[in-house]
Amino acid sequence: MEKIKMNPIVEMDGDEMTRIIWQMIKDELISPFVELNTEYYDLGLKHRDETDDQVTIDAAEATKRLKVAVKCATITANAQRVEEYGLKSMWKSPNATIRAALDGTVFRAPIMVKRIKPCVVSWQAPITIARHAYGDIYKAAEYRVPGPGKAELVFTGENGETFRETIYDFECAGVLQGNYNKDSSIEAFARSCFEYALSEKQDLWFSTKDTISKQYDQTFKLIFQRIYDEEYKDKFEEAGIEYFYTLIDDAVARVIRSKGGFVWALKNYDGDVMSDMVSTAYGSLAMMTSVLVSPFGYFEYEAAHGTVTRHYYRYLKGETTSTNPVATIFAWTGALRKRGELDGNKALSDFADKLDKACLDTIDSGIMTGDLALLCKDEDVQKVDTAGFIAAIRANLEKAL
Ligand code: NAP
Ligand code: MG
Repeated sequence: MEKIKMNPIVEMDGDEMTRIIWQMIKDELISPFVELNTEYYDLGLKHRDETDDQVTIDAAEATKRLKVAVKCATITANAQRVEEYGLKSMWKSPNATIRAALDGTVFRAPIMVKRIKPCVVSWQAPITIARHAYGDIYKAAEYRVPGPGKAELVFTGENGETFRETIYDFECAGVLQGNYNKDSSIEAFARSCFEYALSEKQDLWFSTKDTISKQYDQTFKLIFQRIYDEEYKDKFEEAGIEYFYTLIDDAVARVIRSKGGFVWALKNYDGDVMSDMVSTAYGSLAMMTSVLVSPFGYFEYEAAHGTVTRHYYRYLKGETTSTNPVATIFAWTGALRKRGELDGNKALSDFADKLDKACLDTIDSGIMTGDLALLCKDEDVQKVDTAGFIAAIRANLEKAL
């Protein structure tokens, strides 16, 4: 078979166990079939340190140029890592750097397999959470009120005009919090959600508490509606999908009764909490994909999990590990499929579909890694190590090709 040709994508290598798996995926599942064409950036912690983290900025800039990127999980440095790697500085999270550069929104979706049933029995298709990753309580000013006194909300405009409102006349001790968000960030969030729903051909739900928060949450609701009406209504109708807004408590009730198969956009805190609930209810962190979509049409794919440090330390001791590579494989296939779609390269998109299916077929045949074997009660389950699992996927892929 002749290898499939492709235009370049950005490849961001990473750390620890996922770095090992990264190479195995390329060697066993992609390079034998595709003339893999990537612009390679080594975001491994050692190289980030050597380049004073310039490599992360370069990789983000390259993503703007090539539009599609695939990223391996990376260590976010902390005090312990500074010592472990002898770092010059406690570098920022690469994901935060990339998100800031691409102004994107993160979408997380579970990968569903027949053998692992979601806790919510009605869910037949994945629910993708779109979380706004800017502002609100994550950037709030807080104050522990020591005792009686007056709390006020004060805004001073550039022209010196002020707005002032009493928050509360404290008769005792209490707490205060000041949240903010920006129209520009909310607009970028809305556009990313509309773009993603279109690219997945799924309905988009958005929910906040605008009945209670008549300025703050109302602003989110109105911005979403305006951008939908002005820029996306026609495209959604053409694609046969729907945008709909509902109160967050109504959304929660509907989500639990739904069949799944839609995108649920949420403000920062709501998305943080709901994504943990939804991913747990679907099964395993090792089966969650994550994609950063910028409002300008750049896509960066990765697994939702980290570098699986505990398994890596066992690997370093020469032990075999049963680390699940599926989310990382899906990051690769997500990027290859998007490259294929953008370039009209059907052979490449088809290959990505077949590799996805080979993963699912392998698990459905009963061959799986330890994390999934724990969740599956079937008697014919065969727990294998990472290399054995990838070999089984390759055998299924070769049959499909
Ligand atoms: P983690 O790497 O996601 O692993 C947490 C635990 O979840 C593992 O110990 C393992 O449980 C299980 N797990 C996760 N992925 C798995 C897989 N593919 N197969 C099997 N089991 C899996 O999170 P962490 O240990 O909190 O973080 C490790 C490093 O990753 C940190 O340095 C952190 O900064 C980084 N991180 C990076 C990203 C990213 O790049 N996007 C995201 C999160 C964390 P058992 O040990 O019980 O088997
Ligand atoms: Mg959380």
